[in-house]
Amino acid sequence: MTDLNSELTSDTLPMAFAQLQLAAPLARAVAEMGYESMTPIQAQAIPVVLQGRDVMGAAQTGTGKTAAFALPLLQRMLRHESSSTSPARHPVRALVLLPTRELADQVAQAIKDYAKYTQLRSAVVFGGMDMKPQTIELKKGVEILVATPGRLLDHIEAKNAVLNQVEYVVLDEADRMLDIGFLPDLQRILSYLPKQRITLLFSATFSPEIKRLSSSYLQDPVTIEVARSNATASTVEQRFYSVGDDDKRHALHQILKQRGMKQAFVFVNSKLGCARLARSLEREGLKTTALHGDKSQDERLKALDSFKKGEVDLLVCTDVAARGLDIKDVPAVFNFDVPFNAEDYVHRIGRTGRAGAAGLAVTFVSKSDARLVGEIEKLTKTKIELEAVEFDEDVPDIRKQGRINDGRRMYAEGAQDDSRPGNHRTGPTRDVAQEGQYARQERAPRRDFTRSTPASRDPFFDKPYEPAPASEVVPSWEATVKQGTRSISANIKPKRRIAALFKAEVTS
Ligand code: AMP
Repeated sequence: MTDLNSELTSDTLPMAFAQLQLAAPLARAVAEMGYESMTPIQAQAIPVVLQGRDVMGAAQTGTGKTAAFALPLLQRMLRHESSSTSPARHPVRALVLLPTRELADQVAQAIKDYAKYTQLRSAVVFGGMDMKPQTIELKKGVEILVATPGRLLDHIEAKNAVLNQVEYVVLDEADRMLDIGFLPDLQRILSYLPKQRITLLFSATFSPEIKRLSSSYLQDPVTIEVARSNATASTVEQRFYSVGDDDKRHALHQILKQRGMKQAFVFVNSKLGCARLARSLEREGLKTTALHGDKSQDERLKALDSFKKGEVDLLVCTDVAARGLDIKDVPAVFNFDVPFNAEDYVHRIGRTGRAGAAGLAVTFVSKSDARLVGEIEKLTKTKIELEAVEFDEDVPDIRKQGRINDGRRMYAEGAQDDSRPGNHRTGPTRDVAQEGQYARQERAPRRDFTRSTPASRDPFFDKPYEPAPASEVVPSWEATVKQGTRSISANIKPKRRIAALFKAEVTS
């Protein structure tokens, strides 16, 4: 395996797109999208993919990863461009696999944008949608096929997708695909492909499982790591509040109000918890939408769209549904539930503070979350300090409006994604793994938390993200929560350093 970082320094990297000498139709599309400088993953991966090498890339979402693989693949495929209408002249040459429908849709849209001045065709197939329109598109012939594994297998079985001319495969968000239990599906799909091909694997982390996948399917890959995979942006203010389960919504209202936040993501650990929390918050006057794996594809796209347009204030979501979504300028992320996997913490808070913008990440920690917070400390190599929420006295007491169903109690429902008829998955599911993990953490001994310090900064972009359109509408919580005297809730102990209470060592 070659480590590109040892071969290329930032001095030698071509940073401007102009230096790449992309073909005119691609250069035009890139210019139209407003890209001038390459992001670090693009600067490193594009030349390597153009050379025809396999790549194992560690890049977090939002780093410009899609263009990093799509542009060089399109450039290489241009020699196959054909204006013929015959499907035979448009066989699938590049296959891009992703774990969720939303990601597949997002990546497919980006590829369409990059390829819009070429004659190369692309299509996306994912579960939860009628197979017929997808079949019609496939039968017409497409060079680039973006897919979730389950639905792709359905199309392969139905002989709608023929993959014997595939030259390029991208396994995007590979760690998440393994988490969800897609390994058997991936193995089957890869067995249909020609052995002579270029394979690109992108993953947030290089776990032993990812390394095994890479050694089975990649040939002498160039390893590219643009950022420490577990780094959290230094622009994100991370706060951890000690809050009882019954006080969490109250605390959410309070913090939104105090900070004058316009929009936020609220993460929960289960689909059922997600739906229930969204309903409760809506009842409490916050414009809220839910995004989780049980929603129909149409509902999920609508939910995202209304959040992007600023029509809703809160997007309550599960990790599977939200991974990698490119929504710019989310001012705050709330971890209503502490995530079961510390890596999900990094992904969740990566939704805010993007490209140098200031962001707030609030995590509500209840008594039984000690072990999980310890895991976050270990992963992010930072010390976490728990704080109390100071409530305004006249903030409506949410508890009187009915007890909230905490996500973890509902967890048995699971959080699978990419549902489809005739499920091929045979591997362990994320649901089972998480359920077991939760059962263990309930019994885990309490540990200490100490102060959070920001991790080192990784500059992803030279060009800042476009700000979201300014909304004239007053956020709904401004209307529901009145200013008043502040007091600490009876359930919340005053601010204190947990380390001082427990005096235990924090492993870093
Ligand atoms: P991705 O990580 O591929 O999902 O990209 C995240 C966002 O960054 C998308 O909105 C892209 O359009 C945008 N983007 C990608 N590359 C660049 C670039 N070189 N300059 C500015 N924005 C970019």
